[in-house]
Amino acid sequence: MDRSKRRHSLLRDVERFSRLFLVKEIGINGISKLRSAKAVIVGCGATGTHVAELLVRSGFGELSLIDKDYVDVSNLYRTSLFTEDNARKALPKAVACAEALRRIDSSVRVNPIVAKLNPANAEDLLLGHDIIIDGTDNYTARLIINDVSVKHGVPWVLTGVGTWYGNVWLVNPKQGTPCMRCVYGAVRDDERGNVCDVLGVVPTAVSLVASIAAGLAIEYVLGLANPETSRTYFVVDAKRFRVDALKLVRREDCVACGLRRFEFLNKEYREELAKPVCGTKAVEVNPPKPLQLNFHEVLKGLKTGQVLSVSEYTLRVRVTGGLVVTVFRDGRAIVDGTTNVEKALEVYGTVTGTKLRQEC
Ligand SMILES: [Zn+2]
Repeated sequence: MDRSKRRHSLLRDVERFSRLFLVKEIGINGISKLRSAKAVIVGCGATGTHVAELLVRSGFGELSLIDKDYVDVSNLYRTSLFTEDNARKALPKAVACAEALRRIDSSVRVNPIVAKLNPANAEDLLLGHDIIIDGTDNYTARLIINDVSVKHGVPWVLTGVGTWYGNVWLVNPKQGTPCMRCVYGAVRDDERGNVCDVLGVVPTAVSLVASIAAGLAIEYVLGLANPETSRTYFVVDAKRFRVDALKLVRREDCVACGLRRFEFLNKEYREELAKPVCGTKAVEVNPPKPLQLNFHEVLKGLKTGQVLSVSEYTLRVRVTGGLVVTVFRDGRAIVDGTTNVEKALEVYGTVTGTKLRQEC
């Protein structure tokens, strides 16, 4: 950046953050640290969108947003940033979130990534950021994030919300504090039950958890988070308006931070071709290799069904029997209205013209 541009952006920041400068622990140095900070948010749902908005409004300079899904009208009550128009267009959540954030602060670099975090892509997608924020809804994704965090010494903020309650924790392996596996072990989603969307969520619990999560990220960037912070597990009760702080201890025999075995990272990993989406009546379809679908060509070949929406990112078609297929440009799709994998693959073939077969 040349001198006059730098001066211009500094003057703009002085005006924008005039009330933040005044906070004793922040001042001009703090604003400068926040402006240089890069965060990645995994999952742009309820918690992810609230944290994203808080970080951008607080001055974070760069934000990457990873999400595989599209905005649905049922998301609106508990998320920040999304609109009915986003849901009508079935806009990918990462894209809708990025567009809204750019309208809040056009100088922030926002990178939407429409993808699912998995053991093969996690290091590529997460490294290069100062802090990782968990906005996911499942333990598997969190264990993947934990492995990247411990292996490479990048802190992350774990979050979770269900009904009126939530939990938040800054995991900071750089300070030798406990990691997720020290506390949770290698918990599987199917062992815990009641995860994903099936529990129900009260939006005030989300915003309380998101506020603490963003606060931990801000304190980390400002250099205010000490080892004591990373040993504290916050339990939020949005019904009785309480936040309790539990103290955690590190396990020397922890598989991740003790033995440094990263069982949730695997470059050879491949997504299942089709599988039911936890907590919903839908099937997710993942072609073995990403496709480059041209929706206009797909529409030309479409012999049956009603087109509900088409955008740069997604195509939605209602097919005979009432199933709704939402296809992304890379060929991934969500087939709504069934949990039958074979049926979903058949309908997927009807809409996209691409036949995929489940291997036995
Ligand atoms: Zn550990």
